[in-house]
Amino acid sequence: MKSFVENIKTFFIKDTTAEGESSKLLIVLRILFASIIVYGIVGLAYCLCTGYFDGALCFGAILVIYALMFYFSYFARTVTLVVAGNIISVIVIVSGYVMFGPLVSIQNFFIVVIVACYFSGYGHYKVKGLYTVFVFILYFVLQGIFGKIAATIPFSIPGQRFLQFLNLCVSFWCVAIVCYVYSKDSQHLEGKLIDYNKILQQQASTDTLTGLHNRRSANEFIEKLIKRKDEKGFCVCMCDIDFFKKVNDSYGHDIGDKVLAGVAQTLVDNVTEECLVSRWGGEEFLIVFPNMNGDEARVILETIKTRIKKTEFDTGTKKFGITITYGLAEYGFDGDAEAVVKEADGKLYIGKENGRDQIVF
Ligand code: GH3
Ligand code: MG
Ligand code: MG
Repeated sequence: MKSFVENIKTFFIKDTTAEGESSKLLIVLRILFASIIVYGIVGLAYCLCTGYFDGALCFGAILVIYALMFYFSYFARTVTLVVAGNIISVIVIVSGYVMFGPLVSIQNFFIVVIVACYFSGYGHYKVKGLYTVFVFILYFVLQGIFGKIAATIPFSIPGQRFLQFLNLCVSFWCVAIVCYVYSKDSQHLEGKLIDYNKILQQQASTDTLTGLHNRRSANEFIEKLIKRKDEKGFCVCMCDIDFFKKVNDSYGHDIGDKVLAGVAQTLVDNVTEECLVSRWGGEEFLIVFPNMNGDEARVILETIKTRIKKTEFDTGTKKFGITITYGLAEYGFDGDAEAVVKEADGKLYIGKENGRDQIVF
């Protein structure tokens, strides 16, 4: 069973790799042609069984026409198939309408033709719009002229019912196939686009070395908190590694990077979940404490200060430690993001002046 399905699949997919042409479109065309071939066979069988030999001739013609198009799909260019398929299909529908009359619903295939034309990808939208108008007018004229005249090949009521049912089934199937194939892809692409957007957004707000939020992201967070107006406001702390230049000079830039990543981890590990830790630049980190007053933030900073001082960094041959100076500022429900960060920066500067390794609040 599986190999039978595989064989059918291979049959439809074969030779669909022509340069600059859509293989998906060619496969859809083949499925449509094959569907009409099956339609022709069923119609032909019904007409032969019920003695409608004129009808059998018509379905036989449909069968041959679409079998030829299916055959040519392995040689012709896709664009040729689309154009020829459209023209031939419109002629077949019009002929079917004139011969069988409006009651057998062959006109439903106009919808298939239009849907296939829009999804085909070939041709400008203006051309497609004009084509739609043309098909609409054609149907309108047919309805006006032949809607009132008796069918050339009159079927009995059960015959009409059968053909109507057949036409409805096949036309719905064809529309569904085209829509399924194309919407499946666009849904997939849309999903991919959303994922890429998320990745881009994350990249735009993340510092690559430490994985922390970057300065832009921290600023956005502060702006959000200013608007949010939490009961206790919020605090920001500017943290700057002391004599970091010496770390680089003594142990190299790579070890300096490891220290930055280690410090980032310690900061993240010791703040609450609501806090935001960012790399403000170089060896400076900005922590934002939402809905916290300065005293509460200070308690957290004391823990961080102790942990940082206890941390040993290893160069492979030597172990060393570092200290950090912290400038803590409370947002006083006025001013902007820049002002509160500036205040924290000012306090950090005082800490540096007063001998470093301290929290200034
Ligand atoms: P202070 O205590 O006054 O802050 O002294 P400091 O040496 O820490 O400050 P300074 O501004 O003189 O030096 C900061 C150093 O940080 C200089 C720069 O090379 C280093 N630095 C900045 N960004 C990076 C980085 O991404 N990786 C490494 N390894 N070093 C960095
Ligand atoms: Mg600095
Ligand atoms: Mg420094």
